[in-house]
Amino acid sequence: MILNDKIALVTGASRGIGRAIALSLAKAGAFVYVNYSASADEADKTVSLIEEQGGRGQKTGFNVATPADVEGAVQTILDEKGKIDILVNNAGIARDTLLMRLKEEDLDAVFAVNLKGIFHCTRAVIKSMIKNRQGKIVNISSVVGEMGNAGQSVYSATKAGIIGFTRSVARELAPRGITANVVSPGFIITEMTEGLPDSVREAYLKDIPLGRFGGPDDIASMVLFLCSDQSSYVTGQVFRVNGGMYM
Ligand code: NAP
Repeated sequence: MILNDKIALVTGASRGIGRAIALSLAKAGAFVYVNYSASADEADKTVSLIEEQGGRGQKTGFNVATPADVEGAVQTILDEKGKIDILVNNAGIARDTLLMRLKEEDLDAVFAVNLKGIFHCTRAVIKSMIKNRQGKIVNISSVVGEMGNAGQSVYSATKAGIIGFTRSVARELAPRGITANVVSPGFIITEMTEGLPDSVREAYLKDIPLGRFGGPDDIASMVLFLCSDQSSYVTGQVFRVNGGMYM
């Protein structure tokens, strides 16, 4: 139980990669706050799965794009538990389209959740981490933020932005005993990728040397390492979990 007595907050943990991360941190002993914005029932399911495996957790609903809601939810956690040791910024959305067709509201929505959301959550949580002179922050980027992809200019820009943000925060917070790292997933089977046409999926598969798509657990195991003391000398780094799709 390498995360015994740790309090973790995982954004976007009502399904997909975030759910797998929440389960993995809870299995390692952390009390996990399971964030969601719309899918309360799915967040309940994540909490049930945590409890079924003998772990502890609770849902917390807020929109990462709304700073006042983030601040309020973080304060509630601090009132309940007195600290937050681990923050995993996982919540993300995609509104993919060619740049020529991009609508302003989609541009704003993706930036608000994927990038500004990470600013809001990190800013709210670090007060407690700084006070305790310890903390682990893991931000979920994407292979698309590193190599680009036609039709994903906005998503890609936000995911690249996460890398710059993390490196700056890692430098800012290192003297306070806090680490900040990025996990950059490749093609992972979740609701986000399920809707893609077979032709697109087959094209991706050809570019993956390990010859398979990833699963949420592939990402969760890297996140667990970065949230544990086994990674205490690691900060400001980008960890690619992509089957070799981008090296
Ligand atoms: P997903 O299945 O679509 O799940 C997204 C999660 O984010 C849901 O729990 C959703 O909860 C939450 N969320 C969305 N907007 C939110 C908001 N405004 N505030 C709080 N929570 C919000 O996505 P996924 O595939 O698991 O992806 C998780 C992360 O990995 C994302 O950042 C994504 O960009 C990244 N990623 C995924 C892949 C992939 O191949 N799947 C590859 C690279 C990177 P609600 O339904 O409650 O809103």
